[in-house]
Amino acid sequence: MKFATQELDFLIKEKKKTVFISEKQQKNTAPRVLYGRYFDRTGIYNIFPEEIKEEGEVLGEVLSVNAKPVKEGFCAVVTEEGLAFFCDGQPITYEAYSLYQSIFSRNKGILETNVMAEKKVVLLGCGSVGSLAAMELARCGVGSFLLIDPDILEYHNLCRHQCGIEDVGNLKVDALSRKLKCINPAVKVVTFDGILQNIPKDMLDKFCVEGATLFIGCADNRAADVYANRISIYYQAAFLSIGFWERAYAGEIFYHIPGKGMPCYSCALGDGGNISERAQASHHVYSNQEDTEGLKFEPGISADINYITTIGIKLAIDILNASNQEYIPRLLRDLKQYTIICNTSNPQIGGEMVEIFSYPLQVSTSLVVGFNDKCKNACRLEEGELHGNHIGAGNI
Ligand SMILES: [Zn+2]
Repeated sequence: MKFATQELDFLIKEKKKTVFISEKQQKNTAPRVLYGRYFDRTGIYNIFPEEIKEEGEVLGEVLSVNAKPVKEGFCAVVTEEGLAFFCDGQPITYEAYSLYQSIFSRNKGILETNVMAEKKVVLLGCGSVGSLAAMELARCGVGSFLLIDPDILEYHNLCRHQCGIEDVGNLKVDALSRKLKCINPAVKVVTFDGILQNIPKDMLDKFCVEGATLFIGCADNRAADVYANRISIYYQAAFLSIGFWERAYAGEIFYHIPGKGMPCYSCALGDGGNISERAQASHHVYSNQEDTEGLKFEPGISADINYITTIGIKLAIDILNASNQEYIPRLLRDLKQYTIICNTSNPQIGGEMVEIFSYPLQVSTSLVVGFNDKCKNACRLEEGELHGNHIGAGNI
């Protein structure tokens, strides 16, 4: 069957076009350019929220009251009920949504959106682990992030990172910030493109709120985590570290919650820490040495990294909600401070160290850490002494 040209035109015009727009934007009658994406196969104009408008293409303009819609293309005209939309001069329907409620509607009954919006996460490292942790926590509704990482996103990062080709060449902190805002445009993101040791103290002072902040260590060396836990104790913030063993055949998660009399990361895994010899033997995995080819240690494929990271994220959600009576913890009651997780118990991947695991995907629940006399962190001091004696402005 063949269509005459006029019939084709008619069919194309008949495809019902719709606008998705937030209630706030639909009520905003200020003249402006509307940004977003149009999807030809669905006929949907998705107007992006103001906070991320630069992510979109120019769709059309908001014309003043009583203006005539443009003959070709998309535009909005101001009416008494807010904006009305037109395509090629013809009116089209819109669906206005409450942005925040719509984004988090599927978390309802599990996570309190308002509670999560007050939570703050300091992310030390925005690589494969940090980017996944940040994305997942943004999906949970965490309201503020401080992203710390000095690196630039490169092509070799793409097989494990949450960001894609459109961000290659960008700072990892900026690339990740963009992705977080595309999940929740209301999220507040502060970035520092350096290492934690160099961050200005006032940046942390402004960001950290006692009892609402979690530091997540995703760096690839223990020294950084020792330092991070020391800083988190200073701010009376919780700390969680996610680390990997060779080729990510296994990994380890450590957490510290202030005010609970817990040993810190330094006690457990710092130099001379009290974890068993075996766990310490994996120390080398954290070294970031370059070999003769100039290649950095590669900690395994995305699926293996993500399995371990996801367990860390579940703990992070529990820790962030620890003071919320309504919240039912997933793991925090059962997983001790130090957890080892394996991806595989096959020695061809993990070497002889895998003998500590009985089966693949095993999660340890019984490793207990103790205080270490040599620990220089303030983990054993009373809260009042913390601020005076141990880590002061000069140390950060
Ligand atoms: Zn300690």
